[in-house]
Amino acid sequence: MKGKFPVDKFKELKTPFYYYDTELLRKTLRIMNEECARYDGFNIHYAVKANANPKILNIIYQSGLGADCVSGGEIQAAINAGFPANKIVYAGVGKSDWEINLGLEKEISCFNVESIEELKIINELAAKKNKTANVAFRINPNVGAHTHANITTGLAENKFGIAMNDLEEVMNIGHSLSNIHVTGLHFHIGSQILDMNDFKALCNRINELQDKLERQRVCVDSINVGGGLGIDYKHPNKVCIADFKSYFSTFHKHLRLRPGQQVHFELGRSVVAPCGSLITQVLYIKQGVSKQFCIVDAGMTDLIRPALYQAYHKIENITSEEQMETYDVVGPICESSDVFAKACDLNFCKRGDLIAIRSAGAYGEIMASQYNCRSLPCGYITEEL
Ligand SMILES: *Cc1c(COP(=O)(O)O)cnc(C)c1O
Repeated sequence: MKGKFPVDKFKELKTPFYYYDTELLRKTLRIMNEECARYDGFNIHYAVKANANPKILNIIYQSGLGADCVSGGEIQAAINAGFPANKIVYAGVGKSDWEINLGLEKEISCFNVESIEELKIINELAAKKNKTANVAFRINPNVGAHTHANITTGLAENKFGIAMNDLEEVMNIGHSLSNIHVTGLHFHIGSQILDMNDFKALCNRINELQDKLERQRVCVDSINVGGGLGIDYKHPNKVCIADFKSYFSTFHKHLRLRPGQQVHFELGRSVVAPCGSLITQVLYIKQGVSKQFCIVDAGMTDLIRPALYQAYHKIENITSEEQMETYDVVGPICESSDVFAKACDLNFCKRGDLIAIRSAGAYGEIMASQYNCRSLPCGYITEEL
Protein backbone atom coordinates (compact mmCIF):
# COMPACT_ATOMS: atom_id res chain seq x y z
CA MET A 1 0.00 0.00 0.00
CA LYS A 2 1.22 3.48 -0.86
CA GLY A 3 0.34 6.85 0.56
CA LYS A 4 -2.33 8.90 -1.17
CA PHE A 5 -1.05 12.12 -2.69
CA PRO A 6 -2.47 14.82 -5.01
CA VAL A 7 0.00 13.80 -7.71
CA ASP A 8 -1.53 15.94 -10.45
CA LYS A 9 -1.12 19.03 -8.28
CA PHE A 10 2.43 17.99 -7.41
CA LYS A 11 3.34 17.99 -11.12
CA GLU A 12 2.79 21.77 -11.23
CA LEU A 13 5.21 22.46 -8.38
CA LYS A 14 8.96 22.89 -8.40
CA THR A 15 10.67 19.96 -6.70
CA PRO A 16 11.92 19.21 -4.11
CA PHE A 17 9.28 20.40 -1.64
CA TYR A 18 7.63 19.30 1.57
CA TYR A 19 4.00 18.29 1.54
CA TYR A 20 2.03 18.25 4.79
CA ASP A 21 -1.17 16.23 4.99
CA THR A 22 -3.13 18.50 7.30
CA GLU A 23 -6.02 16.07 7.58
CA LEU A 24 -3.61 13.64 9.24
CA LEU A 25 -2.09 16.43 11.35
CA ARG A 26 -5.52 17.46 12.64
CA LYS A 27 -6.48 13.87 13.36
CA THR A 28 -3.20 13.34 15.25
CA LEU A 29 -3.81 16.47 17.32
CA ARG A 30 -7.36 15.38 18.11
CA ILE A 31 -6.36 11.89 19.25
CA MET A 32 -3.40 13.21 21.22
CA ASN A 33 -5.56 15.80 22.99
CA GLU A 34 -8.23 13.18 23.76
CA GLU A 35 -5.70 10.77 25.28
CA CYS A 36 -4.10 13.55 27.31
CA ALA A 37 -7.44 14.87 28.57
CA ARG A 38 -8.12 11.56 30.34
CA TYR A 39 -5.81 12.67 33.12
CA ASP A 40 -6.13 15.67 35.41
CA GLY A 41 -3.37 18.21 35.21
CA PHE A 42 -1.74 16.87 32.03
CA ASN A 43 -0.74 19.58 29.49
CA ILE A 44 1.07 19.46 26.16
CA HIS A 45 3.55 21.93 24.76
CA TYR A 46 4.50 21.39 21.13
CA ALA A 47 8.28 21.25 20.62
CA VAL A 48 8.68 23.95 17.97
CA LYS A 49 12.11 22.73 16.91
CA ALA A 50 10.54 19.70 15.18
CA ASN A 51 8.84 21.91 12.60
CA ALA A 52 8.41 25.69 12.72
CA ASN A 53 6.65 26.13 9.36
CA PRO A 54 4.19 28.97 10.16
CA LYS A 55 1.25 27.12 8.57
CA ILE A 56 1.94 24.05 10.71
CA LEU A 57 2.49 26.13 13.86
CA ASN A 58 -0.81 27.86 13.31
CA ILE A 59 -2.76 24.59 13.09
CA ILE A 60 -1.05 23.30 16.22
CA TYR A 61 -1.72 26.52 18.13
CA GLN A 62 -5.39 26.31 17.16
CA SER A 63 -5.63 22.86 18.73
CA GLY A 64 -4.83 24.45 22.09
CA LEU A 65 -1.27 23.31 22.75
CA GLY A 66 1.42 25.45 24.35
CA ALA A 67 4.89 25.84 22.81
CA ASP A 68 8.23 24.44 23.92
CA CYS A 69 11.05 26.59 22.54
CA VAL A 70 14.82 26.16 22.52
CA SER A 71 15.90 29.57 21.19
CA GLY A 72 14.85 33.20 20.98
CA GLY A 73 13.99 32.66 17.33
CA GLU A 74 11.57 29.91 18.30
CA ILE A 75 9.97 32.09 20.97
CA GLN A 76 9.40 34.71 18.27
CA ALA A 77 8.06 32.10 15.81
CA ALA A 78 5.65 30.76 18.44
CA ILE A 79 4.38 34.24 19.28
CA ASN A 80 3.99 35.10 15.58
CA ALA A 81 1.91 31.94 15.13
CA GLY A 82 -0.43 33.01 17.93
CA PHE A 83 0.78 31.01 20.93
CA PRO A 84 0.13 33.07 24.07
CA ALA A 85 3.31 33.88 26.02
CA ASN A 86 1.89 32.26 29.14
CA LYS A 87 1.91 28.92 27.31
CA ILE A 88 5.54 29.17 26.18
CA VAL A 89 8.38 27.38 27.95
CA TYR A 90 12.01 27.89 27.02
CA ALA A 91 14.83 25.35 27.41
CA GLY A 92 18.41 25.25 26.16
CA VAL A 93 21.94 24.81 27.53
CA GLY A 94 23.21 28.08 26.10
CA LYS A 95 20.70 30.90 26.36
CA SER A 96 22.15 34.24 25.17
CA ASP A 97 21.33 37.46 27.01
CA TRP A 98 19.09 38.71 24.19
CA GLU A 99 17.15 35.47 24.26
CA ILE A 100 16.64 35.66 28.03
CA ASN A 101 15.62 39.31 27.68
CA LEU A 102 13.11 38.41 24.97
CA GLY A 103 11.60 35.74 27.24
CA LEU A 104 11.40 38.26 30.09
CA GLU A 105 9.83 40.98 27.94
CA LYS A 106 7.23 38.60 26.55
CA GLU A 107 6.67 37.16 30.04
CA ILE A 108 6.89 33.54 28.97
CA SER A 109 5.63 31.00 31.45
CA CYS A 110 8.91 29.28 32.29
CA PHE A 111 12.66 29.20 31.72
CA ASN A 112 14.00 25.66 31.96
CA VAL A 113 17.34 26.38 33.57
CA GLU A 114 20.32 24.13 32.91
CA SER A 115 23.10 25.49 35.18
CA ILE A 116 23.69 27.57 38.31
CA GLU A 117 25.52 30.20 36.29
CA GLU A 118 22.55 30.58 33.95
CA LEU A 119 20.20 30.87 36.93
CA LYS A 120 22.21 33.80 38.29
CA ILE A 121 22.25 35.55 34.91
CA ILE A 122 18.48 35.19 34.52
CA ASN A 123 18.08 36.66 38.01
CA GLU A 124 20.33 39.63 37.12
CA LEU A 125 18.58 40.32 33.81
CA ALA A 126 15.15 39.99 35.46
CA ALA A 127 16.20 42.41 38.23
CA LYS A 128 17.18 45.02 35.61
CA LYS A 129 13.66 44.83 34.22
CA ASN A 130 12.03 44.66 37.62
CA LYS A 131 10.51 41.31 36.76
CA THR A 132 10.38 37.87 38.29
CA ALA A 133 11.31 34.93 36.09
CA ASN A 134 9.54 31.61 36.57
CA VAL A 135 12.08 28.85 36.33
CA ALA A 136 12.11 25.07 36.31
CA PHE A 137 15.34 23.19 36.80
CA ARG A 138 16.25 20.85 34.01
CA ILE A 139 17.64 17.82 35.76
CA ASN A 140 19.79 15.27 34.00
CA PRO A 141 18.16 12.09 35.31
CA ASN A 142 20.89 9.73 34.05
CA VAL A 143 18.23 7.60 32.39
CA GLY A 144 19.20 5.97 29.10
CA ALA A 145 16.81 5.65 26.21
CA HIS A 146 16.75 2.88 23.63
CA THR A 147 17.25 5.12 20.65
CA HIS A 148 20.09 6.42 18.45
CA ALA A 149 23.13 7.63 20.47
CA ASN A 150 22.94 11.08 18.88
CA ILE A 151 19.44 11.62 20.21
CA THR A 152 19.76 10.48 23.82
CA THR A 153 19.92 13.49 26.10
CA GLY A 154 19.36 12.20 29.63
CA LEU A 155 22.65 10.43 30.34
CA ALA A 156 25.18 11.89 32.77
CA GLU A 157 27.65 12.15 29.86
CA ASN A 158 25.29 14.40 27.82
CA LYS A 159 25.69 18.18 28.00
CA PHE A 160 22.07 18.76 29.05
CA GLY A 161 20.70 19.57 32.47
CA ILE A 162 21.85 19.88 36.06
CA ALA A 163 23.33 16.81 37.77
CA MET A 164 20.95 15.15 40.24
CA ASN A 165 23.45 15.58 43.06
CA ASP A 166 23.35 19.36 42.59
CA LEU A 167 19.57 19.57 42.89
CA GLU A 168 19.57 20.53 46.57
CA GLU A 169 22.13 23.29 46.07
CA VAL A 170 20.40 24.69 43.00
CA MET A 171 17.03 24.69 44.80
CA ASN A 172 18.54 26.62 47.69
CA ILE A 173 20.10 29.18 45.37
CA GLY A 174 16.86 29.44 43.39
CA HIS A 175 14.86 30.17 46.51
CA SER A 176 17.38 32.78 47.68
CA LEU A 177 17.36 34.88 44.50
CA SER A 178 14.88 37.72 44.63
CA ASN A 179 13.91 37.83 40.94
CA ILE A 180 13.51 34.08 40.53
CA HIS A 181 10.41 32.04 41.25
CA VAL A 182 11.04 28.28 41.22
CA THR A 183 8.01 26.54 39.73
CA GLY A 184 9.10 23.11 38.64
CA LEU A 185 11.41 20.36 37.54
CA HIS A 186 12.13 19.56 33.91
CA PHE A 187 13.44 16.41 32.23
CA HIS A 188 13.96 15.21 28.65
CA ILE A 189 15.64 11.86 28.02
CA GLY A 190 15.80 11.74 24.23
CA SER A 191 13.84 11.27 21.06
CA GLN A 192 12.23 8.52 18.94
CA ILE A 193 11.55 6.42 22.05
CA LEU A 194 9.19 3.49 21.48
CA ASP A 195 9.88 1.42 24.60
CA MET A 196 7.52 2.64 27.32
CA ASN A 197 9.93 1.18 29.91
CA ASP A 198 12.24 4.12 29.20
CA PHE A 199 9.49 6.52 30.26
CA LYS A 200 8.70 4.31 33.23
CA ALA A 201 12.37 4.56 34.30
CA LEU A 202 12.09 8.34 34.02
CA CYS A 203 8.97 8.31 36.23
CA ASN A 204 10.76 6.23 38.85
CA ARG A 205 13.67 8.65 38.87
CA ILE A 206 11.33 11.64 39.21
CA ASN A 207 9.59 9.87 42.13
CA GLU A 208 12.94 9.42 43.90
CA LEU A 209 13.83 13.08 43.39
CA GLN A 210 10.44 14.26 44.62
CA ASP A 211 10.81 12.10 47.76
CA LYS A 212 14.21 13.65 48.35
CA LEU A 213 12.82 17.17 47.93
CA GLU A 214 9.96 16.36 50.26
CA ARG A 215 12.44 15.52 53.00
CA GLN A 216 13.75 19.08 52.50
CA ARG A 217 10.15 20.33 52.61
CA VAL A 218 10.26 21.43 48.98
CA CYS A 219 7.37 20.79 46.61
CA VAL A 220 7.19 22.22 43.09
CA ASP A 221 4.04 23.18 41.15
CA SER A 222 4.88 21.36 37.97
CA ILE A 223 6.77 18.41 36.56
CA ASN A 224 7.81 18.69 32.93
CA VAL A 225 8.72 15.25 31.55
CA GLY A 226 9.94 16.49 28.14
CA GLY A 227 9.10 14.76 24.88
CA GLY A 228 10.54 11.90 22.94
CA LEU A 229 7.64 9.67 21.93
CA GLY A 230 8.61 7.86 18.73
CA ILE A 231 6.70 7.00 15.58
CA ASP A 232 6.66 3.99 13.24
CA TYR A 233 8.90 5.03 10.35
CA LYS A 234 8.60 1.60 8.67
CA HIS A 235 4.83 1.58 8.19
CA PRO A 236 3.63 5.14 7.48
CA ASN A 237 0.46 3.91 5.76
CA LYS A 238 -0.53 1.37 8.39
CA VAL A 239 0.48 3.02 11.66
CA CYS A 240 0.22 6.71 11.00
CA ILE A 241 -0.47 8.00 14.52
CA ALA A 242 1.89 7.56 17.48
CA ASP A 243 0.80 5.49 20.47
CA PHE A 244 -0.37 8.41 22.61
CA LYS A 245 -2.61 6.12 24.64
CA SER A 246 0.28 4.04 26.01
CA TYR A 247 2.43 7.13 26.40
CA PHE A 248 0.09 9.13 28.64
CA SER A 249 -1.09 6.08 30.57
CA THR A 250 2.54 5.18 31.37
CA PHE A 251 2.99 8.55 33.08
CA HIS A 252 -0.37 8.32 34.77
CA LYS A 253 0.48 4.89 36.14
CA HIS A 254 4.05 5.47 37.27
CA LEU A 255 4.42 9.13 38.18
CA ARG A 256 3.53 9.83 41.82
CA LEU A 257 2.22 13.38 41.83
CA ARG A 258 1.71 15.65 44.79
CA PRO A 259 -1.71 17.26 45.22
CA GLY A 260 -2.38 19.88 42.57
CA GLN A 261 0.82 19.20 40.67
CA GLN A 262 0.69 19.81 36.91
CA VAL A 263 2.44 17.57 34.38
CA HIS A 264 3.83 19.06 31.18
CA PHE A 265 4.71 17.10 28.06
CA GLU A 266 6.82 18.47 25.23
CA LEU A 267 6.07 16.45 22.13
CA GLY A 268 7.56 17.26 18.75
CA ARG A 269 8.24 14.33 16.46
CA SER A 270 5.09 12.38 17.31
CA VAL A 271 2.94 15.42 16.47
CA VAL A 272 4.34 16.34 13.07
CA ALA A 273 6.56 13.58 11.65
CA PRO A 274 3.87 11.36 10.08
CA CYS A 275 2.04 14.14 8.23
CA GLY A 276 5.06 15.33 6.21
CA SER A 277 6.67 13.93 3.07
CA LEU A 278 9.58 15.24 1.06
CA ILE A 279 8.54 15.12 -2.61
CA THR A 280 11.37 14.88 -5.10
CA GLN A 281 11.84 14.05 -8.76
CA VAL A 282 14.00 11.39 -10.38
CA LEU A 283 16.77 13.03 -12.38
CA TYR A 284 18.76 10.03 -13.59
CA ILE A 285 19.05 6.29 -13.20
CA LYS A 286 22.69 5.31 -13.17
CA GLN A 287 23.92 1.73 -13.45
CA GLY A 288 26.82 1.30 -11.04
CA VAL A 289 29.21 -1.64 -10.91
CA SER A 290 27.10 -3.74 -8.57
CA LYS A 291 23.98 -1.63 -8.04
CA GLN A 292 21.79 0.97 -9.66
CA PHE A 293 21.43 4.49 -8.37
CA CYS A 294 18.24 6.47 -8.44
CA ILE A 295 19.48 10.06 -8.43
CA VAL A 296 16.84 12.50 -7.21
CA ASP A 297 16.75 16.29 -7.00
CA ALA A 298 16.42 16.40 -3.20
CA GLY A 299 19.51 16.01 -1.11
CA MET A 300 20.76 15.96 2.45
CA THR A 301 20.34 19.74 2.40
CA ASP A 302 16.57 19.19 2.30
CA LEU A 303 16.41 16.22 4.70
CA ILE A 304 19.53 15.52 6.71
CA ARG A 305 18.26 12.77 9.02
CA PRO A 306 19.53 9.78 6.99
CA ALA A 307 23.02 11.33 6.70
CA LEU A 308 23.09 12.59 10.30
CA TYR A 309 21.59 9.67 12.22
CA GLN A 310 21.38 6.86 9.66
CA ALA A 311 17.63 7.42 10.00
CA TYR A 312 15.24 5.25 8.03
CA HIS A 313 12.48 6.83 5.94
CA LYS A 314 10.14 4.79 3.80
CA ILE A 315 10.45 5.80 0.14
CA GLU A 316 7.79 5.36 -2.55
CA ASN A 317 7.62 6.05 -6.27
CA ILE A 318 4.20 7.70 -6.38
CA THR A 319 3.96 7.88 -10.17
CA SER A 320 4.85 4.29 -11.09
CA GLU A 321 3.06 0.96 -10.71
CA GLU A 322 5.67 -0.97 -12.66
CA GLN A 323 7.64 -3.95 -11.30
CA MET A 324 9.81 -3.51 -8.23
CA GLU A 325 13.52 -2.87 -8.63
CA THR A 326 16.27 -2.24 -6.10
CA TYR A 327 17.99 1.14 -5.99
CA ASP A 328 20.29 3.22 -3.87
CA VAL A 329 18.37 6.49 -3.64
CA VAL A 330 20.85 9.36 -3.61
CA GLY A 331 20.85 13.15 -3.86
CA PRO A 332 22.97 15.58 -5.88
CA ILE A 333 25.05 17.01 -3.01
CA CYS A 334 28.83 16.64 -3.12
CA GLU A 335 29.05 14.38 -0.06
CA SER A 336 29.20 10.57 0.02
CA SER A 337 26.74 10.61 2.91
CA ASP A 338 24.10 12.20 0.68
CA VAL A 339 22.15 8.93 0.50
CA PHE A 340 18.47 8.57 1.45
CA ALA A 341 18.42 4.77 1.34
CA LYS A 342 20.54 1.86 0.21
CA ALA A 343 19.06 -1.23 -1.49
CA CYS A 344 15.61 0.26 -1.49
CA ASP A 345 12.77 -1.49 -3.36
CA LEU A 346 10.80 0.90 -5.53
CA ASN A 347 8.47 0.55 -8.48
CA PHE A 348 10.61 0.88 -11.62
CA CYS A 349 11.94 4.45 -11.75
CA LYS A 350 12.56 6.68 -14.73
CA ARG A 351 13.46 10.33 -15.23
CA GLY A 352 10.63 12.61 -14.12
CA ASP A 353 8.97 10.18 -11.70
CA LEU A 354 7.90 11.64 -8.36
CA ILE A 355 9.30 10.07 -5.21
CA ALA A 356 7.87 10.56 -1.72
CA ILE A 357 10.21 10.27 1.26
CA ARG A 358 7.76 9.61 4.04
CA SER A 359 7.43 10.57 7.71
CA ALA A 360 9.57 13.65 7.15
CA GLY A 361 7.40 16.21 8.94
CA ALA A 362 9.72 16.43 11.96
CA TYR A 363 13.36 17.52 11.82
CA GLY A 364 13.05 17.79 8.03
CA GLU A 365 12.23 21.20 6.56
CA ILE A 366 13.48 22.95 9.70
CA MET A 367 16.94 21.38 9.39
CA ALA A 368 17.33 22.28 5.71
CA SER A 369 20.49 24.14 4.71
CA GLN A 370 21.79 26.01 1.70
CA TYR A 371 24.98 23.98 1.34
CA ASN A 372 26.07 23.88 -2.31
CA CYS A 373 24.19 27.22 -2.71
CA ARG A 374 20.91 25.38 -2.95
CA SER A 375 17.62 27.08 -2.22
CA LEU A 376 15.61 26.00 0.79
CA PRO A 377 12.68 23.66 0.04
CA CYS A 378 9.14 25.08 0.16
CA GLY A 379 6.50 23.53 2.40
CA TYR A 380 2.90 23.15 1.17
CA ILE A 381 -0.14 22.08 3.13
CA THR A 382 -3.15 20.23 1.72
CA GLU A 383 -5.38 23.33 1.65
CA GLU A 384 -3.01 25.19 -0.67
CA LEU A 385 -3.05 22.62 -3.45
C1 LIG B 1 13.74 18.17 21.27
C2 LIG B 1 13.07 18.39 22.55
C3 LIG B 1 11.76 17.96 22.73
C4 LIG B 1 10.95 17.22 21.68
O1 LIG B 1 11.42 15.95 21.44
P1 LIG B 1 10.59 14.97 20.44
O2 LIG B 1 11.42 13.74 20.43
O3 LIG B 1 10.55 15.62 19.11
O4 LIG B 1 9.24 14.76 21.02
C5 LIG B 1 11.17 18.21 23.95
N1 LIG B 1 11.82 18.89 24.93
C6 LIG B 1 13.08 19.31 24.78
C7 LIG B 1 13.75 20.04 25.88
C8 LIG B 1 13.75 19.08 23.59
O5 LIG B 1 15.00 19.51 23.44
